[in-house]
Amino acid sequence: MADPYAWLTPALHTIHRAQWHRTVEAVAGKAGPVVEVGGQSVVNFASNDYLGLAGDGRLIAAAIAATTAYGTGSTGSRLTSGHRQLHRDLEQAIADLKQTEAAIVFSSGYLANLGAIAAVVGPRDGVMGDRYNHSSLKMGAKLSGATVYEFPHGDLTALTQLLQNHRHQYRRCLITTDSVFSMDGDLCAVPELLAIAAQYEAMVLIDEAHGTGVFGPRGAGVVEHFGCTGQSLIQVGTLSKALGSLGGYVAGSAELIDFLRNRAPSWIYTTGLSPADTAAAQEAIALLHSEPQRRAQLWHNVDTAKQILRPSFPLLPSGSPILCAQLHSPAQALDLAAQLRQGGIWVPAIRPPTVPTSRLRFSIMASHDANHFQQLKQVIGSLSPRAKGKEQC
Ligand SMILES: *Cc1c(COP(=O)(O)O)cnc(C)c1O
Repeated sequence: MADPYAWLTPALHTIHRAQWHRTVEAVAGKAGPVVEVGGQSVVNFASNDYLGLAGDGRLIAAAIAATTAYGTGSTGSRLTSGHRQLHRDLEQAIADLKQTEAAIVFSSGYLANLGAIAAVVGPRDGVMGDRYNHSSLKMGAKLSGATVYEFPHGDLTALTQLLQNHRHQYRRCLITTDSVFSMDGDLCAVPELLAIAAQYEAMVLIDEAHGTGVFGPRGAGVVEHFGCTGQSLIQVGTLSKALGSLGGYVAGSAELIDFLRNRAPSWIYTTGLSPADTAAAQEAIALLHSEPQRRAQLWHNVDTAKQILRPSFPLLPSGSPILCAQLHSPAQALDLAAQLRQGGIWVPAIRPPTVPTSRLRFSIMASHDANHFQQLKQVIGSLSPRAKGKEQC
């Protein structure tokens, strides 16, 4: 009898041969700008904790208090087992931040996208998404059964053409986009995209995973940054990045949110957010309001990091705290990441198939300080030109 799992060995070989194989690092110590990896203390450029809140004592205290009061688990789906006032309070805080009528929290941002997209479109509909959209947007579109179109990254002329050619074939159309593209760091041209959508009577879902807490005068996200607050659209995001917790959300009209509570399987058939995660996220949103200086410090740090990286690497265009050094090959990316790591700098090598071309992806935090940047500068200065790929340029 042949082993039905024998295909796994050659499949893994193929992944290794392409230098695509990934493993997970064990991190010790509290979340922050310096962590311990493999027994070595490293400056952390690998985290989405943009405001440095994941290790903040006030979030930790809120999580502990909620756990003490309510226990560790939510014990079931909110529709069957009920929820806590905490869940409602968090949803209200998100709606206040986004200035929408309502919001609903999911157990992750990934589940929020799957649930929202599969609920608002179906087999009679069309979805048009940016090619560089996050996996959860793409999987949500697939799951919905709608006809899916991808347009080249950021190409709104191509999007217009798609709508022109195909809008009439469908009952409803949904345009999906990241607001900050997670592996490149550039922004979606939100006002232009909304104008095109209105022209073709298409819905818009914007994923603010890397925007919330980071952009806009109040930290509401890229929609606020571009002055588009109040326009009718579906805003999705995560509680796990700048908000330092875990979970996802959808914000929008009261009707949309009520509909999702009744039609989003990834909300209906899954356990509610834990009391600890809920309370921590709520505390983080309170801090967005009371400590705007964190955002200011973050943007200052982004400028500092750009000045250090630019002389050594071609950077991808970025309007965010995600700075990507473009490299020639997966092998070069791995080699450079290893050299930086020896110097105490932790930055991930992002390779195909996640992205089309290999890169080092630096994620800047408000809690990085002058010493951390000094170390980054020193270590990059000590790299050989060959490692940086300058010879091939
Ligand atoms: C991280 C991310 C998500 C998923 O959020 P989680 O809460 O981690 O599941 C969704 N969309 C984008 C653009 C992301 O970067």
